[in-house]
Amino acid sequence: MKYDIVIGLEVHVQLKTRTKIFCGCDTAFGAEPNTFVCPVCLGFPGVLPVLNHRVIEYAVKAGLALNCEIASLSRFSRKNYFYPDLPKAYQVSQYDEPLAVNGFIDLTNGKRIGITRAHLEEDAGKLIHSNERISLVDYNRTGIPLLEIVSEPDISTPQEAYDYLTNLKAIIEYTGVSDCNMEEGSLRCDANISIKPNGAVMLGTKAEIKNMNSFRAVERALTHEIQRQIKLVDQGGKVVQETRLWDEKKQTTSSMRLKEEAHDYRYFPEPDLMPVRISQEYVQNIKETIPELPQARMKRFVSQYNLPEYDVQILIADKDLADFYEETVRLFNSPKMVSNWIITEMLCLLGEERIGIRECQVTPDYLSQMLQMIETGIISGKIGKDVLAEIFRNGMSPEQIVKEKGLIQITDTNELESVINKILQENPRVVEQYREGKKQALGFFVGQVMRLTSGKAQPEIVNEILKKQLE
Ligand SMILES: [Zn+2]
Repeated sequence: MKYDIVIGLEVHVQLKTRTKIFCGCDTAFGAEPNTFVCPVCLGFPGVLPVLNHRVIEYAVKAGLALNCEIASLSRFSRKNYFYPDLPKAYQVSQYDEPLAVNGFIDLTNGKRIGITRAHLEEDAGKLIHSNERISLVDYNRTGIPLLEIVSEPDISTPQEAYDYLTNLKAIIEYTGVSDCNMEEGSLRCDANISIKPNGAVMLGTKAEIKNMNSFRAVERALTHEIQRQIKLVDQGGKVVQETRLWDEKKQTTSSMRLKEEAHDYRYFPEPDLMPVRISQEYVQNIKETIPELPQARMKRFVSQYNLPEYDVQILIADKDLADFYEETVRLFNSPKMVSNWIITEMLCLLGEERIGIRECQVTPDYLSQMLQMIETGIISGKIGKDVLAEIFRNGMSPEQIVKEKGLIQITDTNELESVINKILQENPRVVEQYREGKKQALGFFVGQVMRLTSGKAQPEIVNEILKKQLE
């Protein structure tokens, strides 16, 4: 039988506010466990939550960037469940009256994926299972503001899921409300997936998949889960509603628990918090602070800089990288050359150190100065790579590096002629071969010149002299 695949994604984005959603505790990542806590986020009796206004601002901004309508009235509820990472035994979350609804994200293939809702909630603590007998809990994360973004079940393939996530992350990063760092858990994704006979109206029973720590892992987990469900149904079995965990090492999903229904959580309105009222004026003011978003920027990059789509996609995916690119082009107006250097050399250096472009010592100023040196023939492109690596390592200016290391290109014809004559004298056999018609011997001589001049000889002049001497 042929099946339709139905995928919906739930993405939790941690909002980058300085303090937590209902108390003044710091939200910084990586602190000593249980140092950023207070009676409010630890759920002591008698305390009252106070809503952090910055959280609302950020959520509205993200909602607008995701093309959502912002509700003029939204409300917090209590979602009740017992678990050691939840000191109050309930999580404050928006339930039937979320802050943002009816948005969408356009995929690269042109398909539009609906966003059902984006609602606010507080994060739970973090359990650390140190060994089989002991589990520890860190409440620093408790009460950190999250925006949960729920898609419509419009996604039909694992590749579309990957594309949706990549786009969503780029949009949120551009708004600046979250750093979307998956390794630090500031972006998390769960997937709902079901299959149904080709063309059937009724949706199949869905399984929820958790524990995927990269977008590629989501893609792999979905591919695996589709195969599992198809095999199961083909053999006459039934998919059960459950939560399954992705195991990246084994590349498989396994059942974690049967999925709760909404009524298991006994939602009820949070009595300690007022409903959130948002005026049109407030929404309008925030709208004006939203920067150019990735898709608009992508179109502009293609038309303004005449770059191939491949380059644009890489540059745009990271806002800092795209900003860095534009600043460099402003200083050195050769868009394709700048793009080539950033995409190949810069990304390679950054990848080795696993850092972002703003964390390294290369600035648009330095990169443009270095490119200018290549353009005017002061250094060769090959030397340029070494200079860039040197700036990257110790933050010196290109001028300083070229001067101190004596990297200025040799364009002096007399100097190059004497080097070339020496090489020709030392290799009479190769000279003979060249004259007998083995023209590729020229490459050997060029290589020798570069070796003796440490790559500083100007290649065009070398070629010219060599040919003249050999003929
Ligand atoms: Zn607190």
